[in-house]
Amino acid sequence: MKILITGGAGYIGSHTLVEVIKAGHQAVVVDSLVNGHTEAVERVSKLTGSDIHLAVGDIRDKSFLESIFTEFAPEAVIHFAGLKAVGESVENPMAYYDVNVNGSRVLLEVMQSQNCHRIVFSSSATVYGEPQYLPYDENHPVAPINPYGRTKLMVEQMLGDWSAADPERSAISLRYFNPVGAHPSGLIGEDPRGRPNNLMPFIAQVAVGTSSELQIFGGDYDTRDGTGERDYLHVVDLAKAHVLSLNALADQEGHDVINIGTGHGVTVKEMVKAFEIACAHSINTRTVARRAGDLPCFFANSERAQARLGWAAKLSLTDMCRDTWTWQSQNPSGYKAREY
Ligand code: NAD
Ligand code: UDP
Repeated sequence: MKILITGGAGYIGSHTLVEVIKAGHQAVVVDSLVNGHTEAVERVSKLTGSDIHLAVGDIRDKSFLESIFTEFAPEAVIHFAGLKAVGESVENPMAYYDVNVNGSRVLLEVMQSQNCHRIVFSSSATVYGEPQYLPYDENHPVAPINPYGRTKLMVEQMLGDWSAADPERSAISLRYFNPVGAHPSGLIGEDPRGRPNNLMPFIAQVAVGTSSELQIFGGDYDTRDGTGERDYLHVVDLAKAHVLSLNALADQEGHDVINIGTGHGVTVKEMVKAFEIACAHSINTRTVARRAGDLPCFFANSERAQARLGWAAKLSLTDMCRDTWTWQSQNPSGYKAREY
């Protein structure tokens, strides 16, 4: 199949690009490079031995998107492009409504006019909000607690309406839990611009010496060891869920939502320990106050992913830490400097 990947120069998009090509599909990437890297797409070309076209532009630019659709005629879209920092979404919510919601609206309009009927969307466990029970299943009420989460929910709702309007259309929203890790080659990985917001890239930066210590946000949660607990999953497992979703869309009508997680929580302290084993040295940590807006603990019920997609996470916490370390130690400055 011909697949258009928005945000394919980003972290999850570049890993998915590898799996999409490995599965025998053709892919074109659309990315504004606001948080993506040309080098990521070049490295995927190298990894897969295929020449990948990166069209640099913004998903909100309708005529740009139309020109790509006309030229490439994709049969399906995997839609990663968007802004993803929770704190930034609180400070600048309109940017999030514009890029995430309006950008998705423009994309769906263009898909409609170009007769492209299938889409896989990057949603997030953030849509659930305060847990009423755990693990979250897909029937858990949705009540996101920040603008970022609300934009994800709005796009899910838009996909529901878009796909209901024509029986040929189908959409899957994958609600990701906490993707971490990197391709085992060490060629591609997560390269956040500026200070990382998320735990794993921050641990990796402390391990490689770019940052001096990890601040552990809160040591007094009601969890096994007092630190926050999340459902971390390997980005390569996540990438494979997108390929399986493309297959599932073929005999699906309407919109479906599917959790993508391992079903197991890992605390911050457990993650640090696992990373210390991977990098074979200790990591400086300091416990500080809780981060505003953080939930103590959440993890997925991932039975629906198994039932609908035949997907289950295969890679372990050890794999996640080893592959992150391979990436970070081979590329201490990310994509900025070639280390080989
Ligand atoms: P990322 O920032 O690495 O990738 C997003 C890509 O989209 C970037 O390459 C960026 O340049 C591009 N982009 C942003 N705005 C654009 C626009 N207007 N037009 C075209 N391209 C644009 O982020 P990621 O971690 O790979 O996340 C991918 C998707 O998954 C996002 O939609 C994110 O919200 C969602 N998600 C991520 C996580 C996570 O923990 N990483 C969790 C749940 C959901
Ligand atoms: N965390 C931390 N220090 C950091 C970044 C994150 O202690 O520098 C904790 C955070 O409080 C949460 C967990 O690590 O308990 C995962 O945070 P992340 O931002 O990666 O994911 P999210 O909270 O968005 O699920």
